[in-house]
Amino acid sequence: MEEVEKVKAEAVQMIGMFQVLPRLVVFDLDYTLWPFYCECRSKHDTPSLFPHSRGILSALKDEGIDAAIASKSPTPDIATTYLDKLKITSMFVAQEIFYSSTHKTEHFQKIHSKTGVPYNSMLFFDDDNNNMKPVSNLGVTSILVRNGLNLGVFREGLTRFSQNWDASKNKQKRRK
Ligand SMILES: [Mg+2]
Repeated sequence: MEEVEKVKAEAVQMIGMFQVLPRLVVFDLDYTLWPFYCECRSKHDTPSLFPHSRGILSALKDEGIDAAIASKSPTPDIATTYLDKLKITSMFVAQEIFYSSTHKTEHFQKIHSKTGVPYNSMLFFDDDNNNMKPVSNLGVTSILVRNGLNLGVFREGLTRFSQNWDASKNKQKRRK
């Protein structure tokens, strides 16, 4: 089996192990889906993804879980050119790629209003620690990516998402 197919099969299996799943998984671009800052590169370069990114994205698609992008890249034209070159543009239901002084809360407000998905049904992967707290405060399960998206951090995300979900449901129960 090809590497992408192997990763995809493993990701599909992983998704099947969880009873509670996010409705939308949001990804940063630079150093999360791909191993570079696109502002340091030219549109004419040939981009590549981290080795597990494509398999994980296509597992989400197969399992009917939507994906979106939240990127603060100052060069959205390069980012979108690369998404096209990598043929993954159609995998995202929302693409918010713009520079902002906020820690991506503005990106998430836009994603929320475009998709209608509640924040507590979203899972977010990003390599920038500064974005973790502000986005978590919205109710999004936010996972710090240290070496690019891979199956290990993907599993951690699904696990944390279902723990957060259970914790919030228990809280509601106690209030009744
Ligand atoms: Mg990044």
